[in-house]
Amino acid sequence: MADITRTLGLQKRIALIAHDHKKQALIRWCQKNRDILGQHFLCGTGTTARLISENTGLPVEALKSGPLGGDQEVGARIAEGKIDMVIFFSDPLEAQPHDPDIKALLRIANVYDVPFANNRSTADFMIHSDFFNREYTCISEDYTDMNQRRVQDIQEEIDSSGE
Ligand code: PGA
Repeated sequence: MADITRTLGLQKRIALIAHDHKKQALIRWCQKNRDILGQHFLCGTGTTARLISENTGLPVEALKSGPLGGDQEVGARIAEGKIDMVIFFSDPLEAQPHDPDIKALLRIANVYDVPFANNRSTADFMIHSDFFNREYTCISEDYTDMNQRRVQDIQEEIDSSGE
């Protein structure tokens, strides 16, 4: 399968998400890294975005709240090439009503080779990496051919069913 590349610019578009029991940790992390984060474009699920803005003064575009579709909105933006990385402090000890949405977000981030930090230390490594401060080329698989083959296969089934 061929590869497809996508170049992340100097200013990264970062999505911030935290489950309720992890919101304080993410806010503290954003306060600590305020100067770095302030050089990039931030968005986040509704409640997380609002609390980070209020507690750090950083501009964070608020999407819908996670349980109301915010994680899916982040996923849709990834599919559209509008988010470069995700920092998601998730709660490992509590099931969420929107767990399927979170699984879908992880999957779509994987499809597009989007850097995804699921805890504080990964987020630290991410923003203190050399790659964070320069352009970076993500390489993901190009699924265009596979999709085209699926369309052809289904079309053949339709044609041969004779109805
Ligand atoms: P929230 O959503 O920022 O609106 O709380 C986060 C989540 O639970 O996915």
